[in-house]
Amino acid sequence: MNGYTFYAPTRVLFGAGKLGELHAALGAEGLAGKKAMLVISDGRSVRENGTLTRVQEQLAQANVAFVLFDKVGANPLKAIVEEGAALARTENCDFVVAVGGGSVMDAAKVMAMYAPQPGALWDYVPGATGKMLPLVNSPLPWVAVTTTAGTGSEVDQWGVVTNPDTNEKIGCGGQDSLFAKIAVVDPELMRTVPSKYTAYQGFDALFHSVEGYIANARSPMADMVQRAAIEHVGKYLARAVADGTDMEAREGMAFANTMSGYSMVVGACTSEHAMEHAMSAFHHNLPHGAGLIMISLAYFGHWIDRHVCDERFVEMAKMLGMKDAAAPEDFLAALQKLQKDCGVDGLKMSDYGISVEECDALADNARATMGGLFLSDPAPLSKEECAEIYRRSFR
Ligand SMILES: [Zn+2]
Repeated sequence: MNGYTFYAPTRVLFGAGKLGELHAALGAEGLAGKKAMLVISDGRSVRENGTLTRVQEQLAQANVAFVLFDKVGANPLKAIVEEGAALARTENCDFVVAVGGGSVMDAAKVMAMYAPQPGALWDYVPGATGKMLPLVNSPLPWVAVTTTAGTGSEVDQWGVVTNPDTNEKIGCGGQDSLFAKIAVVDPELMRTVPSKYTAYQGFDALFHSVEGYIANARSPMADMVQRAAIEHVGKYLARAVADGTDMEAREGMAFANTMSGYSMVVGACTSEHAMEHAMSAFHHNLPHGAGLIMISLAYFGHWIDRHVCDERFVEMAKMLGMKDAAAPEDFLAALQKLQKDCGVDGLKMSDYGISVEECDALADNARATMGGLFLSDPAPLSKEECAEIYRRSFR
């Protein structure tokens, strides 16, 4: 049995209605009576569906004053993170509260990291053109109220930020001090996510665990959370996509997502994530989950053709619901069926402006920006193989 270290210090409030306990959790974490920067997206959803008002009521009950930062878009940009951090600094905020999906939580987490630091944000970025300097001061504490079931950002210590000047979409942070103090995972807040995004986010959660399950760093703890995540996606994702008000399905997907977040804490993602980051680094309108779906069949097909972990693919096909699975290729059939059931089997790279001529540049970018993930692959993946996976995925 492989050993492991499991450090997941976030106080997780999981379940329908749990947002109502946020004020008490703020007290328990010593955050009552302090001042927060409340970070939301640049869209209207949390204002219109009442979530923002409910969070504000919870803050008021804990005597927390706040300033609002409402400029975070999809694939959050370096400039927005810097602007938010500057606001937290000038307003003397004691902590940060994120209310939204992966982009909002990632941006808020990196704002909390950067706000108390001198110098430039990219001084602290651990890779590519980042200077990888150690943090000078402790990050601000941060609190996650997740409104989607996708990134697992509420329970991990990484935030992805895009630098459009250098086409880098890169994981920032990684320090133990960047875990959220509190994560509210309340499926009632996910009821209004449109079906298309429910599917993209659900597949992101799935791939965090599927990649973890074939990664070379394995442990019984990682296996446990990954199995739970994959089984719950197999059981509930298509239902949540078909009917967003199916609360049992929403809850099942919220649980899958949280388990997949833990997969990244105790295990690792593989190069599929680096390859997707390259795609959305060049094409900012491409949602992360959609990019992963586009390359997934060719990507996992590559590893199945290499017979690097046949048994694991058979197990995962069974977890997704194909009880009589016997060959590793059955995993691809199960994945394809789930994509069809969720209405995302027709996604095309060309619809997001990607051209087949870019495949080499994407393969270079994936390695240059998120090269660390290739070290988790079950076998080495060459640049040419990487480019070939893009080409086979191209439509
Ligand atoms: Zn992801």
